[in-house]
Amino acid sequence: MNAAVRRGRFAPSPTGPLHFGSLVAAVGSYLDARAGGGEWLLRIEDIDAPRNVPGAEASILRTLEALGFAWDGVPLYQSTRLDRYRAALDALCQQDDAYPCACSRREVADSRQGPSVDGGRVYPGTCRAGLPPGRTARAWRLRVPDAAVGFVDRVQGEVVQNLEREVGDFVLLRADGQFAYQLAVVVDDAESGVTDVVRGADLIDSTPRQIWLQQRLGAATPRYAHLPVATNAAGEKLSKQTLAPAVDAAGGVPLLARALRFLGQAVPAEIDRMPPSEFWPWAIAHWRLDAVPRRRGIVCPDQCLPP
Ligand code: GLU
Repeated sequence: MNAAVRRGRFAPSPTGPLHFGSLVAAVGSYLDARAGGGEWLLRIEDIDAPRNVPGAEASILRTLEALGFAWDGVPLYQSTRLDRYRAALDALCQQDDAYPCACSRREVADSRQGPSVDGGRVYPGTCRAGLPPGRTARAWRLRVPDAAVGFVDRVQGEVVQNLEREVGDFVLLRADGQFAYQLAVVVDDAESGVTDVVRGADLIDSTPRQIWLQQRLGAATPRYAHLPVATNAAGEKLSKQTLAPAVDAAGGVPLLARALRFLGQAVPAEIDRMPPSEFWPWAIAHWRLDAVPRRRGIVCPDQCLPP
């Protein structure tokens, strides 16, 4: 992998069609990569089989294409990469970084540990020193240190977590046999040579875990920029769960301009009337990451649909 190449990526999960929130992440990561003269990769995060919606991945690709996004190479499907995740897990087990865990979700939820950054409970470490007698392995976890792991986000500034106290040893292979997002994303970003991760701020609290995993796997840590996520009036992220409407590619340039304005970019009204062939070069030339609001969420009136 040529280390001099700057490489960004967009990694949607095919849990539904593209909505305005995911469009914002696509626009931000695309412009950051292209404005830096870099490549932009597309990865379909389809390993969480129970959450995949048939046809969603094709609809996401169609929408991106119709809006004029141009990705480098072919999209990478996580479902084709299970052997790579298995190899990473094996390496972590051999280093004694990963270990089998017998605890059920309920046991962790009922533990008297403090709340974790994810809103659950910090893992109490029950199986850290070995499976308790008579119990069998359900999941595999990564040991985390009682130490600060942090980074300087290009939008949000410094983020530091004590992984042991705020998260606890976290799951790499789930009890249902699925590899966890945290492991897959680290293996894929590393093997694809991603240098710049630009994504929604809902994932910022996962980043110290991902950095720790990179360190244990001997992988480089990319730069991170976490963009504000679009929320409804109740402050909930626009998503399938909050019934965010699908983006209609017919929204064209005005829709893209709306995503840019959401990201704090100065977009003159006449841009809305530009053809897509002129819009993208204009947007790449005018992209300013330092204009993106340093906020984790921004309420999007009317779910940010075009008028
Ligand atoms: N698949 C994740 C999502 O759709 C994004 C993961 C990432 O960008 O690291 O929220």
